[in-house]
Amino acid sequence: MTSEIINSKDLKKMDPVFGQHSFDDHEQIVFCNDKDTGLKAIIGIHNTVLGPALGGTRMWNYANEWEALNDVLRLSRGMTFKSAITGLNLGGGKAVIIGDAKTQKTPELMRRFGEFVHSLGGRYITAEDVGMTTGDMDTVREVTPYVTGISENKGGAGNPSPITAYGVFMGMKAAAQFQFGSDILEDKNVFVQGIGNVGEALVEHLVNEGANVTIDDISQERLEEVQSKYGVTIYGGNDIYSENMDIYAPCALGATVNDDTIYKLNAKIIAGAANNQLAEENRHGKILQERGIVYAPDFLINAGGIINVYAELEDYGRQEIMRKTENIYNTTLEILDNAKLNNVTAHTAALNIAKARIETRKRENSK
Ligand code: NAD
Repeated sequence: MTSEIINSKDLKKMDPVFGQHSFDDHEQIVFCNDKDTGLKAIIGIHNTVLGPALGGTRMWNYANEWEALNDVLRLSRGMTFKSAITGLNLGGGKAVIIGDAKTQKTPELMRRFGEFVHSLGGRYITAEDVGMTTGDMDTVREVTPYVTGISENKGGAGNPSPITAYGVFMGMKAAAQFQFGSDILEDKNVFVQGIGNVGEALVEHLVNEGANVTIDDISQERLEEVQSKYGVTIYGGNDIYSENMDIYAPCALGATVNDDTIYKLNAKIIAGAANNQLAEENRHGKILQERGIVYAPDFLINAGGIINVYAELEDYGRQEIMRKTENIYNTTLEILDNAKLNNVTAHTAALNIAKARIETRKRENSK
């Protein structure tokens, strides 16, 4: 099976779990329910060959449970390959909590969620994702050690978002080197879609390099805040995908490269932080390749966050975190070269390398 976005009407027609299109031999899927706190969560453990399944928890107001399940299946699978390609000894997992993070998230709900994580005995280790903060992970830490992304004053590596942004910046520069023959982003027109934790930190790197940055977000407040801090342009149109740009940086949610947008896109490079940017990774990856748009695989260039939280488990410091994250530049360039040489999409090239590492470890483990 491949990972792709399907509308909820079609999802409902499939078998409930193992028959879902995004189901890809996941090892374990855990449904968590607690009436008292209102917790409804799903933990997806995709693969634990390389190590415990580590991946953040997303709290989102899903339209229905099918969407939540599909999201956790796609996201946990992505984590497997992200850790594998980054060379970390971690498997892939992810969790989703169904609900509005602004109005429904309470310390009691987070603690209850932590107890469910704890019940898995370390097969799944959580961290923050959309809708979560370092403070929420501190709350989870009260009931389980199987959590990363906790505050620095509690022994954690702190907020992973600035490191993620640095890795995305490195991946973007490598893609520029490949596409333009230079990795200098000065005067390049870069559209950053979603200026949350990662997006804002990415904007800072881009502005420091002299890029012309346009920002887009659904929150007017965020737009004004980031504009006043960095002097960037707020997108004023109504179809960002049709705009002329050098680089499109999706930093909001996934699947923005889809049937509706892919032929409109005028970017020369796609490089951003969002997970699962291609609604259908094979088909859309191929179309981008045919259109000459360089796509820096999301799971490769947004690995800074996992490198940062992995430091909490392996006990390495800031210098090693930055070294590993900076190396995203080299890996991205190698993958883009490899894809060109073998005439496959960058996504496929990256996936093949990640899968080969897992297969090798599987063979070693079974000896
Ligand atoms: P965040 O919640 O802080 O920011 C997301 C931003 O996107 C918000 O400002 C939100 O208003 C905006 N947004 C939502 N829908 C939008 C839309 N349709 N158009 C424009 N803007 C929209 O999240 P984050 O931590 O910055 O993460 C951003 C993305 O990067 C997510 O997809 C996340 O899974 C991925 N990611 C994050 C990390 C990390 O370290 N935080 C690591 C890897 C991947």
